[in-house]
Amino acid sequence: NHYSTEDVRLLAKEHKVEFVRLQFTDIFGVLKNVAITVDQLDKALNNELMFDGSSIEGFVRIEESDMYLRPDPNTFVVFPWQAQDGAVARLICDIYNPDGTPFEGDPRYVLRRAVAEAAALGYTMYVGPEAEFFLFHVDKEGAPTTQTHDRAGYFDLAPVDHGEQARRDMVLTLQKLGFEIEASHHEVAPGQHEIDFKYDDALDVADKILTFKFVVRVVAQRHGLHATFMPKPLFGVAGSGMHLNQSLVRNGVNAFYDPATETQLSTECLYYIGGLLEHARAMAAVLNPTVNSYKRLITGYEAPVYIAWSNRNRSPLIRIPAKRGMSTRIELRSPDPACNPYLALAVCLQAGLDGIKKRTAPPPPCDQNIYVMTEEERRELNIGVLPEDLREALGELQGSALMRRALGEHVFNRYLEAKRIEWDRYRCQIHPWELEEYLTKF
Ligand code: GLU
Ligand code: MG
Ligand code: MG
Repeated sequence: NHYSTEDVRLLAKEHKVEFVRLQFTDIFGVLKNVAITVDQLDKALNNELMFDGSSIEGFVRIEESDMYLRPDPNTFVVFPWQAQDGAVARLICDIYNPDGTPFEGDPRYVLRRAVAEAAALGYTMYVGPEAEFFLFHVDKEGAPTTQTHDRAGYFDLAPVDHGEQARRDMVLTLQKLGFEIEASHHEVAPGQHEIDFKYDDALDVADKILTFKFVVRVVAQRHGLHATFMPKPLFGVAGSGMHLNQSLVRNGVNAFYDPATETQLSTECLYYIGGLLEHARAMAAVLNPTVNSYKRLITGYEAPVYIAWSNRNRSPLIRIPAKRGMSTRIELRSPDPACNPYLALAVCLQAGLDGIKKRTAPPPPCDQNIYVMTEEERRELNIGVLPEDLREALGELQGSALMRRALGEHVFNRYLEAKRIEWDRYRCQIHPWELEEYLTKF
């Protein structure tokens, strides 16, 4: 959408909007809302709305905590569900300091900066995400469980169950919100689903991922289900990924496509892959941000473990889907849906651009099954391993000059600090597995 502030005023009137949710995210990508009544909309559109940022995770500043919300008119949508007292709309906001400069702790700004750097080199990044999630039942008190009744598998059609109905409703709701849904299907694990929407430019897609997760949760709730984007809610079955299909466009042409080469991939595409592979370990803490994320990145469940790319295999970190022409793209398979989409796209883009700038040639594609190789064979082929846990990933992040620059000093430091605390809280816990393993043994 390309809306002016005047369009937003008119649309709000036309749809009889009573409330507007002003949305933004903290550094973890958790959606925040400041709800205003429609009579405050003018003030909001004039960028006069102030809020206290000191209570937002990762925003805290010592000098001052007053910040300004600048709604992005292009993000205006009216929610398709009818609230009791009139329609509700939302606007996604950028966050500004009182002196009128963008707030460097705003994740949307981190992505805007990356997008601007790409634009300076003539590129626009396009992204198509594939977010997976589980639908679980809630108990009598309404609390989420990890139970699912459904026994369907990948792409199963019948019998249509509760989850399928909820998913259909999600698709319809997303369409009403302007999403073009390309596919929606059951995933491998019981209760696991995927809905894919059409690729778009990076900022738009990051905004859409937030809206998507919000809609999936709300609709699930209306069906008496709990939707979760937790990466690995169940031991022994597949986890949920959010594969990111990425391409760069230059002068309206897909820069990853080159019909003259054997693979029809351009050199820019290869360098971009080279950059992603080089920085894969450093990016992990952003793409796989939780303790739980690393329980997904294990062998046996179509999630990547090794740092390699392939034209065929599904197991490596990067896969090249067969489509060419305008659809030429690379699919990064490590990200999970717990990541902050703004930061995730920013670090991918910066890593890829770094590859292009430094002409980082990737190792040859690996079309063999990496999982059956010995450590030695992998070493010979120069195939690295993703971090095994959040602690290791944070160490890699901390040591990366590119990530520091990509995230900016403020986000980089706050992110590390908060995630270290998260790891420490986990580390001190006694987990059920330990009790089962040791309580009677010793
Ligand atoms: N669920 C798998 C993952 O964790 C991906 C399955 C697929 O290829 O769609 O990434
Ligand atoms: Mg999938
Ligand atoms: Mg995929």
